[in-house]
Amino acid sequence: MTRSETLFEQAKKTIPGGVNSPVRAFNGVGGSPLFIEKADGAYIYDADGKAYIDYVGSWGPMILGHNHPKIRAAVLAAVENGLSFGAPTELEVRMAEKVIEMVPSMEQVRMVSSGTEATMSAIRLARGFTNRDKILKFEGCYHGHADCLLVKAGSGALTLGQPSSPGIPEDFAKHTLTAVYNELESVKTLFEQYPEEISCIILEPVAGNMNCIPPIPGFLEGLRALCDQYGALLIIDEVMTGFRVSKSGAQGHYGITPDLTTLGKVIGGGMPVGAFGGRKDVMQFIAPTGPVYQAGTLSGNPIAMSAGLAQMEALCEEGLYEELAAKTKRIAEGFKAAANKHGIPLSINYVGGMFGLFFTEEENVTRFDQVTQCDAEAFPTFYHGMLDEGVYLAPSAYEAGFLSMAHGEKELEATLAAADRVFAKMAK
Ligand code: PMP
Repeated sequence: MTRSETLFEQAKKTIPGGVNSPVRAFNGVGGSPLFIEKADGAYIYDADGKAYIDYVGSWGPMILGHNHPKIRAAVLAAVENGLSFGAPTELEVRMAEKVIEMVPSMEQVRMVSSGTEATMSAIRLARGFTNRDKILKFEGCYHGHADCLLVKAGSGALTLGQPSSPGIPEDFAKHTLTAVYNELESVKTLFEQYPEEISCIILEPVAGNMNCIPPIPGFLEGLRALCDQYGALLIIDEVMTGFRVSKSGAQGHYGITPDLTTLGKVIGGGMPVGAFGGRKDVMQFIAPTGPVYQAGTLSGNPIAMSAGLAQMEALCEEGLYEELAAKTKRIAEGFKAAANKHGIPLSINYVGGMFGLFFTEEENVTRFDQVTQCDAEAFPTFYHGMLDEGVYLAPSAYEAGFLSMAHGEKELEATLAAADRVFAKMAK
């Protein structure tokens, strides 16, 4: 047994399923998960000392690569001053100013400690502000595990084949309406049915929890127009896409202005951070200025703010996003070329620093049902082939892949050479 396997057996005795977040258990691909000991640059190292080129990047935030010297230095400096105060700090002010500078639709911002908290709070605010109960989300989109959002959800919920969870009373779930991603008509129909009851639409501007599905032209603009027409708020959940798709998030990339935005892991640079923000008149509606309650002992934690600020400042470097997008294009197109060389049908999507691989004959994958119809056998085979070759991808066919600035020519080339060997074996 490897040390990872031994640790997994040990973990299962005290931790449900041996993990603290379901997808980590490798249910989507079978086998035993790697236990990670350390990470640096483009590489993670497992408990057996084996190195892997990492395309998970802690599920998104490691845009600069692991253990970046600037972030490490910022955290170590902050630690000298104490870990948590539960009182305001200058760091929080600087963080708010930085976020607002980068995402102009956010006129005010509130820090929280996870993406789940960000979306949960934004939804409560939208409901309070509009005085309406219903929300509209898309099938296959994941926004964390708040009750109202765990309905037809993506990511781990989808990986486990249970997109809506037991434990959520029907009385709660009935207020969550679900539409089809990239199909504006399905949204229109719901607004026509409930013209004065929908408080908000929440969506991933590039869906990254059902693999990687960018919005088709006109989709985001259509949602904006419907929200305006029916008096609902548009919440863009950039927990994954914020500062990954572009310096100003997916909203900057696609030129769309939401009422509220949610951010997550990326602004923490690896520390537990989330945020929600947007129109000032809406944000003023939360406590202490407004009646909608929201709070957090660790919100704006000084260590997390220091890591996040260091990351955000480094992300503003000239030309960074062009380089990240070029690396992503090279890897995604490279995977496709390697698969096709061996006669394996593979479709790809990519935008900014994220990509998706689909084992399907379909040329363009734009819908959730196309994702669920991909070859279910091919992905786990490919996955374990790549893992053996020393390439660590997200262990589920429903997750996006992530590049970092630390992925250099050497890593990209090694990854594609590995893919070529794996596809060759799969073709046999
Ligand atoms: N929204 C989106 C788009 C996400 O991808 C995620 C998690 N991957 C969340 C919300 C929830 O964030 P967290 O896991 O930090 O609670």
